[in-house]
Amino acid sequence: MNRREFSKRSLILGAGIITGSQKIGMGNTESDNSNYYEEPLKKLPIRNFDVVVAGGGTSGVVAAIAAARQGAKTALIEAKGYTGGTVTEGGTALHSFYNLWKAFPGVTKRQVVRGIPAEIIDRLVKVGGTTGHCEMERGYEYDSVCTAIDTEFYKLITMEMLDEAGVFMALNTLVVGAIKDGARIKGVITESRSGREAFYAKCFIDCTGYGDLAAHAGAEYTEPNDHAVCNSVGIGNVCMDRYYDYLKSHNAIGQLGRGMRSGKPNQVIRVGNESVRLPDGFSEEAGKIGMSMITTSVHDNYLMFIKCNLKLPVSPTDRDTVSKAELTIRKNMARAVELFKKYVPGCENAFMARTSPRLCIRRGRLITCDYDITHEDVIEGRHFNDDVFVYGFHDMAPSLQIKDGGTYGFPYKALCVKGIDNLLASGMLITSARRAHLSTRNTVCCMGQGQATGTAAALCSVKNCGIRDIRYTDLYEALKKSGVYFES
Ligand SMILES: Cc1cc2nc3c(=O)[nH]c(=O)nc-3n(C[C@H](O)[C@H](O)[C@H](O)COP(=O)(O)OP(=O)(O)OC[C@H]3O[C@@H](n4cnc5c(N)ncnc54)[C@H](O)[C@@H]3O)c2cc1C
Repeated sequence: MNRREFSKRSLILGAGIITGSQKIGMGNTESDNSNYYEEPLKKLPIRNFDVVVAGGGTSGVVAAIAAARQGAKTALIEAKGYTGGTVTEGGTALHSFYNLWKAFPGVTKRQVVRGIPAEIIDRLVKVGGTTGHCEMERGYEYDSVCTAIDTEFYKLITMEMLDEAGVFMALNTLVVGAIKDGARIKGVITESRSGREAFYAKCFIDCTGYGDLAAHAGAEYTEPNDHAVCNSVGIGNVCMDRYYDYLKSHNAIGQLGRGMRSGKPNQVIRVGNESVRLPDGFSEEAGKIGMSMITTSVHDNYLMFIKCNLKLPVSPTDRDTVSKAELTIRKNMARAVELFKKYVPGCENAFMARTSPRLCIRRGRLITCDYDITHEDVIEGRHFNDDVFVYGFHDMAPSLQIKDGGTYGFPYKALCVKGIDNLLASGMLITSARRAHLSTRNTVCCMGQGQATGTAAALCSVKNCGIRDIRYTDLYEALKKSGVYFES
């Protein structure tokens, strides 16, 4: 669906435009009223905030904490009953807090993403919920470190941090519309078991991954459908060390990292290879179900996670296509576990311990922003005069790496939603060039974007101004003060 089709769902009411979840019957002309139900108008209770963050996932959590710590009265609206989003539902290795120093002899190792994202990892370390930042022994041309997380602790820790920061968490609540006043968003409409409500604020951040808020607010977007969707399965009752031995015996180790596992240091925590040639049909069957062979583990006897990819014929905003895909991938995940049981020594009694709660996407809507980061910006390691953090990882390394194992700067203008005065966006929903997106969509980059948008939104709310009216020096100082790292 494009913006024009989506906009047909809009209702124009009074001075404001309310856009929302009214579903126009598929395949009907607009003149055919017999298949439409006209929803009666409702009076919605209003809640007032300085900043509203839509989506409490990878970037949204950090955005809300950042905004609240700057003193903004902040609400986080999240569709599920927990926070963390895809970082807790897709893979478990967070790419990447560091530059790719190991692939470039002589280059200094540096932690380039700090601030709130780094604080989350520090808190996870305390509860045994991460491997820590482990240097890779093999495959370090891809990422020089592996930072794997216990996804359940990630949910708990981020909810605690949001609570401590004073964020109002509206969980199990869906953003279903936007209330516009000219080029400004006045509020968002939400739906939960407590009914429909309006959340008013001075500034908004779309962290929904899908770009739901931006689309409701009439922002420009496309739906490139340029990535496979993917769910992941956690496999219990397996032996990571014997899986490692199995790959090793077939000379199939592409990546290897050792670190903290079940409280013990120097354990195998990341192992695998995308293109292994394992005997007995393992590889062939893995290919048929789109299975990725890279896995991590934070706990003994548990593989977190095996991923099953599926390319959809249309964008993952299409409900009916997604419903079918949910079943296909579920079948494929069961087949993946059967493969481990059948072929890998030590996995004979494996079982599906956990699956992604719903289809995970790598891209839904692509929201148009004031600036679109290019692939050259990324690999040339360009910096801008409005950088809000720096980043040093590319998902296609080693074939595409950031120049000299360095970083590129993330410009503020790439987070400003075009045509709307008070809407920022962070996460996988920006960056049109697929090869640039293969850098900007990664978890740690999304978290860095979250800290930038949350901080900027809070500054806007204090000054009661638009997102383009704050002074960059104020934003830079606020980010630096809260631990964000910049390359000088
Ligand atoms: C299977 C898979 C594996 C991956 N593996 C890795 C990896 O190993 N390492 C890595 O660095 N990156 C990985 N990625 C990429 C990375 O995880 C994502 O790009 C990133 O987490 C996206 O963050 P986000 O904040 O944009 O979205 P999300 O983290 O998905 O957050 C969006 C949140 O918004 C909520 N939401 C959506 N719509 C609404 C609405 N209308 N109202 C309220 N709430 C809403 C969702 O419930 C969700 O919590 C993987 C991606 C996938 C799909």
